[in-house]
Amino acid sequence: MTQKTQLLMLLLVAAAAASSANELPSNLTQLDANEIPQRYDEAQLWRIYNISEAMQQRVPVGQMLEQKFGGNIWKENSKFLDISIARDQLKAARSFLSAHRLDPQILSHNIQSMIDEELLEGIQSSSFTLGSRTKKAARSGMHWKDYHDLETIYSFMREIRSKFPNIVRLYTIGQTAEGRDLKVLRISENPRENKKVWIDGGIHAREWISPATVTFILYQLMSDWENQPAHIRGLTWYIMPVMNPDGYEYSRTTNRLWRKNRSPSRRAQCSGVDLNRNFDIGWNGYGSSTNPCSDTYRGSSPASERETRAVAEFLAKRKYNLESYLTFHSYGQMIVYPWAYKAVKVKDASVLQRVSSLAAERILQKTGTSYRAAVTHEVLGIAGGGSDDWSRAALGVKYVYTIELRDRGAYGFVLPPRFIKDTALEGWTVVETVAQAIGPSSAA
Ligand SMILES: [Zn+2]
Repeated sequence: MTQKTQLLMLLLVAAAAASSANELPSNLTQLDANEIPQRYDEAQLWRIYNISEAMQQRVPVGQMLEQKFGGNIWKENSKFLDISIARDQLKAARSFLSAHRLDPQILSHNIQSMIDEELLEGIQSSSFTLGSRTKKAARSGMHWKDYHDLETIYSFMREIRSKFPNIVRLYTIGQTAEGRDLKVLRISENPRENKKVWIDGGIHAREWISPATVTFILYQLMSDWENQPAHIRGLTWYIMPVMNPDGYEYSRTTNRLWRKNRSPSRRAQCSGVDLNRNFDIGWNGYGSSTNPCSDTYRGSSPASERETRAVAEFLAKRKYNLESYLTFHSYGQMIVYPWAYKAVKVKDASVLQRVSSLAAERILQKTGTSYRAAVTHEVLGIAGGGSDDWSRAALGVKYVYTIELRDRGAYGFVLPPRFIKDTALEGWTVVETVAQAIGPSSAA
């Protein structure tokens, strides 16, 4: 067998395994056009600098590339725009840019091959794990050599609950538009008195490293719970690895670069709302879209989405002693804190800056990766409707951080599985540092 045939066979096996593992609820078994897998053959990922000059001349570069050339915005901030462009639009998009004296840097020449390599690498490293199955291998099949489907993540959560029945509780806090459960795990030795920390991942579907990191954090907490220091054992932990299960599964089966949830729109053919623009804070402001076809569509009203409402209601009931809200995203390698919806710092910004800088320092020591600690609006631009801002504004949570995990654009969302472990360790380092800053609960 040639190497190419071998690769192809592995991919086919993987695709078959993926489709059988992802049985959809029965109301979804009909195949429609939205379920034909989206391919990105020879689509390129561009980084475009100096867009602010064009913006001053009222040319919204990202929006134009999105609407006229079918571009897919990966990241947009004060310094640059990362956007993917399909093969058949490359030429036109390029001449549009040069008309505005912009010259894209090519980050990837073929996004589909990045996606294929990500899949292949994961299969190879996890088949090695399965081949040498050890006594220790978890029932759920969880490991951090590859990304997992929702069912594996949920069975890992159930496994943790059954191993620690006295301190772990598993909540189903709601259902998605497609009928999937929204699950949160609570770990606590003293739910009445402990200070609380909330951790979530997977708000944005395509940011696969986020659920991988949050499940790793769960593993780090529980693999040696008895010997955790007081500032960790003395807290109540709420952990939601996948806030957007519909989007996550869709990104696994159909469109690797899907960002939003999957709720159907009444007004348009397009579906999905950007959950991180849907929270009730600065909802009507900058940084989100009123167009249901946009990747940053804010929804028809604040908290219009089931996922947003489930999380907001769950947390509102538990805001007493809620000290920290940590939300994991990718990419960019940053630890940022409010505000995002307006160009103002929170009044205790110096404390938040100190703790995030310390986390960044520790990460650098541990893995050699550099993270930037900063105020959100200064590095990511102004955007309303974020869960982070909401937790501060509505619940008064102190340590509110959004962590943008690896990388800085070499692979973007399609981060190869070999980087999962170290990246997850970086996420864990942030958690440890924040827990230390909170200090032990008085009752602990
Ligand atoms: Zn995100």
